[in-house]
Amino acid sequence: MYVRQWLFDITGFFFPLYCPVCGNILCHPGEVICLACELKMPRTNFVKDPENPVAQLFWGRTKLEGATSLMRFEKGSKYQSLIHGLKYRGEKRIGLFLGKLIGKELLPTSFSDVDFIVPVPLHPKKEKKRGFNQSEVIASGIYEITGIPVRNNILFRKQHTETQTHKNRYQRWENMDGVFEISNENGVLHNKKILLVDDVVTTGSTLEACAETLHRSGPSAIYIATIACA
Ligand SMILES: [Zn+2]
Repeated sequence: MYVRQWLFDITGFFFPLYCPVCGNILCHPGEVICLACELKMPRTNFVKDPENPVAQLFWGRTKLEGATSLMRFEKGSKYQSLIHGLKYRGEKRIGLFLGKLIGKELLPTSFSDVDFIVPVPLHPKKEKKRGFNQSEVIASGIYEITGIPVRNNILFRKQHTETQTHKNRYQRWENMDGVFEISNENGVLHNKKILLVDDVVTTGSTLEACAETLHRSGPSAIYIATIACA
C-alpha cells in the first residue's frame, strides 16, 4: 500500500493525473474522478423505475424488458468530458470506471439476470481508426462487477452511416434501417437474455436498430443500459 502510494506520488509528480470533470489533481491511487465529482454525479436511478424516460423512449419502437442510464447530461454538463475522454482521448480507464459504476447498479436487479452483454458495435473502419470500441470498454467494466460474459462477435455494423447530427428523428431512424446484422451461429441467441450496452442514448435510433436486429433471432429478453442519456 505504502509502495503503491509512493509510486503514485512519484509518477503523479512527473505526470499528474487530473479529474476529467473538475480538473483538480487526483490524490489517491487508482482514482479516475475525484470523490467530490463522484458524489455530485447526476445519477438517474432509472434502474429502479420501469417507466423511466429512457424506457419510455423505446415504447412502441422495440420490445425491451428494461432500459436505464447511469446519469443524465444536462446541456453543457461537465460530466460529458467523461465520455469525451473515453471516446476521443482513448482513456479506457474512464470507460471501465463508468462500466463498473453501472454494473453495481444493475447487479441487484433483473438487468444482471442475463446470459450475455452485447456492446453496440462501431463500424469496423471507425473502430480501426479509434483503436477500440468504447461500448466494449464499458461492457468490460460491467463484466468486472457482474461476471456476465461480453459477446462482441454477435452483432455487426454493415455499412458506414452518414453523420447524423443534422437529421431529425425520423430521418435518423430511416438511416439506421438495415445497418446491423447478426451472426447467430447454432442459434446462440435463441431464448437468451441480452443486455445491450452503449455509451450515450439520445434519440435511441441506434439502440432501437440493434434491438430490432437481435429480436429476429428469438432472444427471450433484451435490456438496454447506457452510461448517459441526453
Ligand atoms: Zn472532480
